Parts: sequence; C-alpha cells; structure tokens
Amino acid sequence: MKLFYIAFSIFWLCAVFAHAARTVVVIDAGHGGKDLGCHPDKFYEKHLTLDTAYRLKALLDMRGVPNVMVRDDDYYLTLQQRVSKANKYSRAVFISIHYNYTKSRSVRGIETFYFGGAGRSYSLAKSVHSSLLGRVYVNDRKIKPRRGLYVLKHTRHPAILIEGGFLSNKKEREAISKGAYRQALAEGIAEGICKFLGYKKRQILLQ
Ligand SMILES: [Zn+2]
Repeated sequence: MKLFYIAFSIFWLCAVFAHAARTVVVIDAGHGGKDLGCHPDKFYEKHLTLDTAYRLKALLDMRGVPNVMVRDDDYYLTLQQRVSKANKYSRAVFISIHYNYTKSRSVRGIETFYFGGAGRSYSLAKSVHSSLLGRVYVNDRKIKPRRGLYVLKHTRHPAILIEGGFLSNKKEREAISKGAYRQALAEGIAEGICKFLGYKKRQILLQ
C-alpha cells in the first residue's frame, strides 16, 4: 500500500521535560523605589532592569516556562525580601538582572556572577552567559564567582546575577537605552535558562 505524505509542517518548539515544568524562574529586577541603582545621565538602572525583566518574563511565558517576578513595578525591596520570594519555591532558579557602573569610563561588557564552586549555579551562569554573548555583541567580561552578593549567597536555588553592560560607558549606555538591546539581552537569558532547565527543541510532524 502506497503511503502519501500530503504535507509535513515542521515546528521547532521549546518542549518541557517533566522535571523542568515544575521549576519556577524567579526574575529579580535589580534595585527599585528609593534604590535607584546607578543613574548616569538620567538613565536609571532600576527602570532598565525592570524593563529587561518584563521582556524576559514575556519570552518565558511564550515558551510555557513557569516564572515569577520579584518586583513588577518601581518599589523598594530589601535583599532579604528578594531571597525569601525565591526560597518559598521548592524548585526554582534565581535570575538577578543589573546594569553596571564604574568610574573608569572605558570599561564595558557583560559579566555574570555566581556563588560557590562548580555546582548548579556555575552551570546556570555558563549556559546563560554563552547564550547572551550569542545575542549581544559586546565585550565578554566572563563568568565570575562572587562571595559578597547577598542574593546569590542566600538563595537556596541555582542563582546568578547578570550585569548586562556598563551605564558608565557612553557607547554602551546608548545601546542599553534602546529597547532592541534589552530585548536581545532578554532573549539570550531566556535561551540560556531553557537550555539549563532541559527544555529542548522538539520536532513535531503534522500530516
Ligand atoms: Zn545594580
């Protein structure tokens, strides 16, 4: 009997392993309210982090990845409040979004921090950082262990803090001020999270 394959449509979708479906992505937009973050030339870090967080949330929603925002508007939260929002979940990853500042105006690039040794936070940092660099063409300031960052130290889940570029560098500040840059950054973060959680592209054949 002759088989006729009338049509095949191939969709590549981000599909979920059962364990990944239960992992909540906790999105932490750095600073907020009275805590402005760095703010050269009226570019407020707290607004830029919130915007990037919303972009990341939209991308995760599209892929069906459970997520929650630590703050969803311009208000102040202590570091302890941020951590406790993450720690109430049994399975989560914690993604803290920041933009950088330093007195040396020439310094630029993206860096990703984690706490501890070569554990799950390091794996998450590696996955997200490499995806980021595939989307945003900036100087690679690498993945770095950091002991002094409260949110990374006290979150009991894989946790990273992304510094998505330097607001102190004029060229980078101009890029960060554009929605396209923050969108590319969010796409890189989302892709890295999906890879880390074991979401994979699945081929679906429709007849
Ligand atoms: Zn910051």
